[in-house]
Amino acid sequence: AKRDGRNQWCFFDPQVRRRLEYRNHLKAVLLHALDNDRFDITLQPYCCVRTGAHRGFEVLARLDHDGVPVPPDSFIPLAEELGLMSRIGRILRAKAFEAHGRMIEMGLRPRELAINVAAQEFREPAFVETLQALLREHHISPGDLVIEITETALIGRSTDTVAKALHRLQRTGVQVALDDFGTGFSSLSHLKDFSVNKIKIDKSFIGDLEDDEGDRALVDGLIMLAGRLGLSVVAEGVETVAQMKYLGVAGCHYLQGFALSPPLSLEAAVRFLDPRHEP
Ligand code: C2E
Ligand code: CA
Ligand code: CA
Ligand code: CA
Repeated sequence: AKRDGRNQWCFFDPQVRRRLEYRNHLKAVLLHALDNDRFDITLQPYCCVRTGAHRGFEVLARLDHDGVPVPPDSFIPLAEELGLMSRIGRILRAKAFEAHGRMIEMGLRPRELAINVAAQEFREPAFVETLQALLREHHISPGDLVIEITETALIGRSTDTVAKALHRLQRTGVQVALDDFGTGFSSLSHLKDFSVNKIKIDKSFIGDLEDDEGDRALVDGLIMLAGRLGLSVVAEGVETVAQMKYLGVAGCHYLQGFALSPPLSLEAAVRFLDPRHEP
C-alpha cells in the first residue's frame, strides 16, 4: 500500500475500512464454519399454480455464527472469490440429498430437489459424477433434480465448462433452471445458447406486481416467451394472494414465496408434506 499520494485518503475512509474489516471477519467466519461443520440447509417448497400441488423444494444455504445468521447473499459471493465455494457446495449437496432421501424413505413425496450451483463448482473435476453418485445413493430419480444457475454463471471464463457439464447432466434427465431471470443484461441470448428447462422470474419483478404496470408487462412477456420456447416458469418471492392470482391468470406454472411457505428445516418440511407426521 502507498503511504503517500492521492489515494491515501482511501485507507482512512471509515466506510472503506469498515468494508475491509467486515470482509476479513466474514472470511474468518467461513473458514471456521468449514472446519466446524457449521453450514446448514433449509428447504423452500414451490407449488403448481393451477392445482396448488407441491412440486419440489429449493435448497437454500444457511450459516449461523454465534447465533447470528449470516445471509447467503453476503457469504456466497465471498466464498466464490476465495475459491471456497466448491467445498461449501459439496457439504450443502451432501446434506440436501440426505434430507431428500430421508423424506422418500419416510414414504413422503418431496418431488423435485432444486439446488443452486455457482460457476466455480462446475470446475470441480468430478462434479457430474458426484451428482450422479448422490442420485443413486439416495434413490432420487435424475428427472427430479433441478440445477439452478444464474446468468453470471453462464458468462466469463468458465462458460464452456459449465455448458458441457449441463449438457451431460441433461442427457441423463436432470433439469436446468435459469435463476434470477430478467436481472442480467443478456438473458435472452442465454435461452438460445444454453438448453434450459425452466426459468425462475426474480423476486424483484414480483414484489410490485400489483402497483407497477411495467413489472406486469415484463412478467407477462417473460411468461409468454417461455411458453413459446416450451419452458416452464417459476415465480419466486410471491408474498401475497393478489400476486398468486395475477401469476395464475398470466399463465405462470409454479409459485414459490412466503405466501406459500418460508424456507423450512427438514422437520418442518416433513410436516409441510404430511401434517399428521409424528417426529
Ligand atoms: P435465490 O436463488 O434467488 O433464492 C431466493 C431468495 O429469496 C432466498 O434468499 C429466499 O430465502 C428468498 N425468498 C424466498 N421467498 C421469498 C419471499 O416471498 N419474499 C422475499 N423477499 N424473499 C424470499 P436467501 O436464502 O437469502 O438466498 C439468497 C441467494 O443466495 C439465493 O438467491 C442464491 O442466489 C444464493 N444461495 C442460497 N443458497 C445457495 C447455495 O446453496 N448455493 C449457491 N451457489 N447459492 C445459494
Ligand atoms: Ca435459486
Ligand atoms: Ca432470485
Ligand atoms: Ca440469486
